[in-house]
Amino acid sequence: MEENDETQRRINNSKLFIEIPDYKWPIIYSSHYNISFMYFEKLHPFDAGKWGKIHKFLKDEKFLQDDTTVEPIEASEDDLLVIHPQKYLKSLKLHTILEGLIETGLNVARIVEIPPVAIMPNFLVQRYVLQPFRYQTGGTILAGELALKRGWSINLGGGFHHCSAKKGGGFCAYADITLTMKFMRDRHKIRKILIVDLDAHQGNGYQRDVLEADDNDVYILDIYNRKIYPFDGYAKKAIKRKVELEPFTADEEYLNSVSVNVHGALNEFAADVVIYNAGTDILDGDPLGNLAISPAGVIKRDYIVFEAVRSRNIPIIMLTSGGYMRNNARIIANSILNLHQNQLIDCKEARHHQALETPSMPPPDQVPRSRSESFISRFFCTEPKKSPSMESHIDQSKS
Ligand SMILES: [Zn+2]
Repeated sequence: MEENDETQRRINNSKLFIEIPDYKWPIIYSSHYNISFMYFEKLHPFDAGKWGKIHKFLKDEKFLQDDTTVEPIEASEDDLLVIHPQKYLKSLKLHTILEGLIETGLNVARIVEIPPVAIMPNFLVQRYVLQPFRYQTGGTILAGELALKRGWSINLGGGFHHCSAKKGGGFCAYADITLTMKFMRDRHKIRKILIVDLDAHQGNGYQRDVLEADDNDVYILDIYNRKIYPFDGYAKKAIKRKVELEPFTADEEYLNSVSVNVHGALNEFAADVVIYNAGTDILDGDPLGNLAISPAGVIKRDYIVFEAVRSRNIPIIMLTSGGYMRNNARIIANSILNLHQNQLIDCKEARHHQALETPSMPPPDQVPRSRSESFISRFFCTEPKKSPSMESHIDQSKS
């Protein structure tokens, strides 16, 4: 009982729920998300600046501005203690976070570059690795709040689906998905949560938490490569719809499965909110995911999920999760632009604000033709399409 009071106090006193003006997109990002430490930056195949690049691409396309992006604050120890035991937070060291990735058979040789970081002094781990994760976790919790208010939200980071309340691993230090569920349920009258986990890996972290809590109000759809980390047979018991893919599954089979199962889950379970873990390590060539999905396939996948959920008027939170190759950021940005182009996400106030407050933009006749006709300006000027199609944006992903 006392423990519940303490948890309640922490939730009530959290500073994560900042006031967000209407003119901001429900898109969440902080420059603190990025891991900028020499070893990480050199680490292949890891792009530790993925999150910043997504944001930059969205700004370059005039879709977002810094002042129309929601900037989260760092999840505090009190926020984390809402689900994590103190003992776990104290135990956090880099090798416990990397656990599992190092064991993933085929890829050992490439990950072996990590040991210099594994013995990195703890204050550096805290500053350069764990602090970015805490910002991203703050972002996911805020994304839950925003989705319930605005109908949708996208955290450009987060999605640490291998971390449970008691154990980290697979490059996930904080259980942002479990935390967000806890905060949403406590602050709002929602119970039923659907998790659609389409990262290449099984999301064993929150699955363990759901099992532990014997929580029947969480419905999990997980589509993953059955031959890669984490092989967590115990956690699989939490999955209501489990699709185990063979390695190197390609677009047609994959997208068909996504469509059938997302609609199936939504028909079977009356969700109050959907958490979409949109890992891009399903991409062809990803050394950890070992699937063979094209960039166009990733964009179509996100379209299928948003179309299915938004057409039912259910709030959706998207997290970017795994996928750290050099081309991932561009593909994620293109996918977000595609969702907007197909009217699956929008924020009129943000568009209005940006149109009014872009004094640095030269008048149209001085704008180079290619810029004035950038595809983002077409979003705002063309008539709404009657039948949304995802085809129009697919060629963008090839860059
Ligand atoms: Zn993954």
